[in-house]
Amino acid sequence: MKAVAVFPGTREVKVIEQKEPEITEPDQVMLRMLDIGICGTDWEICTFEYGMPPPGDDYLVIGHEALAEVVATGSAVGRLQVGDLVVPSVRRPCPHPSCLACRSGHQDYCYTGDFTERGIKEAHGYMTEYVVEHERYLDPVPPDLREFAVLTEPLTVAEKALAQVTWMMRQRPPWLDPQTPSDERGHGLSALVLGVGPVGLLGAMAIATAGFTTYVYSRELPPNPRIDLATAIGATYLSSQDTTFAELAERVGNIDLVYEAVGHSHFALEAVRWLGINGIFVLTGVPGMQAFVETDPARTMRDLVLKNQVLLGTVNAGSDDFASALRNLDLFRNRWPEAVQTLIAGRYPPEQAAELILGRPTGIKTVISF
Ligand SMILES: [Zn+2]
Ligand SMILES: [Zn+2]
Repeated sequence: MKAVAVFPGTREVKVIEQKEPEITEPDQVMLRMLDIGICGTDWEICTFEYGMPPPGDDYLVIGHEALAEVVATGSAVGRLQVGDLVVPSVRRPCPHPSCLACRSGHQDYCYTGDFTERGIKEAHGYMTEYVVEHERYLDPVPPDLREFAVLTEPLTVAEKALAQVTWMMRQRPPWLDPQTPSDERGHGLSALVLGVGPVGLLGAMAIATAGFTTYVYSRELPPNPRIDLATAIGATYLSSQDTTFAELAERVGNIDLVYEAVGHSHFALEAVRWLGINGIFVLTGVPGMQAFVETDPARTMRDLVLKNQVLLGTVNAGSDDFASALRNLDLFRNRWPEAVQTLIAGRYPPEQAAELILGRPTGIKTVISF
């Protein structure tokens, strides 16, 4: 069977032939891979900045954002049946008995760093025809989400962030009544999303769905399909090319929540200055090595203290976040049917994966289909 693999030793990215995997444990499921989304992490892996083959292999099968169909089940599999659609999670627990996070099924909070990640770190990924996986790492997908479920994994970033933000909002003033319906959590509050990549746009959709008045701020100028999408979901788009942070803050008023999805340290640190009173700033971007910038740590520290602010970093996601991402995708599809259609730029065969990953992105989310 075919797989798209990166060879760090020879610095190659190519389609390889591999033996089909087999179910070897009773709780395993055989999956036929349908859609695999590509993202900046794949770019980093294919430019040999990131990613690690499994021990003993000189290559890594890439792909971590996937939708698959169950084609066979082990004897102990109870929840899934042949024909079901599933989304697999990415991170697998570390082996250390002392890691409270991994031992309680929360490997997205792993303490040791010895976790593996399918398609990224020491475990082969999903950009191949068949994959065998344990049932516990698979989330069932309603059949009518077939078209969009490949977006689940990039949406889990926002789901994990919003779950923590909601928890904090309930713990600190202005007290969020636990009875508040989830689509009114952000009622009367303003959120700013930084970036119009898939993580930013899906985050903006989740944040708008939670009831926040949503602003999206990025470099791009119209006309641009990413800006159209932001506007179509009711967010206000402003470009950093013609609106300064000061003008933006003036327009928004108290910035209660920032969801950063750019991965540019200078831009993010500049944005921290404009976070409002009692504001929460969520960082999701992973910056590459960028030029050193001067900053004023005293001012940031004064603001964090005097304005009761929170800086929150978040990575990866847990099982609950996958489940809530699937619920939200269904909501998005019903609420903004046309906008959601524009999220997926196109589906391409694996032979085109390398050029699509390394080339300039044309649409919002590019998908490889087997
Ligand atoms: Zn990704
Ligand atoms: Zn761990």
